[in-house]
Amino acid sequence: MHQQLELLIMLNDLDILVKESQNKNMRKKEESYGFKLVHHSVELARAREEIVRKLDKNLYETYERLMSKYERALAPVVNGVCYGCYMRLPIAETTQQNKNEKVSTCINCGRFLYWIG
Ligand SMILES: [Zn+2]
Repeated sequence: MHQQLELLIMLNDLDILVKESQNKNMRKKEESYGFKLVHHSVELARAREEIVRKLDKNLYETYERLMSKYERALAPVVNGVCYGCYMRLPIAETTQQNKNEKVSTCINCGRFLYWIG
């Protein structure tokens, strides 16, 4: 898999994890639990920095734009269908070889794509 694509997937997973833990934090008020989450989020922020540092600047900007719009900036493609917007991708795209060896985006929703089938 393309290294930049791998980084985008990692970043997306991390951001979703952070979002989820923030939601949990709002629901739960116990101090000990809160402390654990804060500590956890510091580590996550550090990991995030590390990923962003390696990521191409333009890709990161696109990523941020997508995250302000959608829950996830990436979508898997299964059987030629983008699972972000459920649109069938053009045949020219789906018949390419080594599709995960480059960073591509959905022509409809703009999400980064990774091909799993
Ligand atoms: Zn799409």
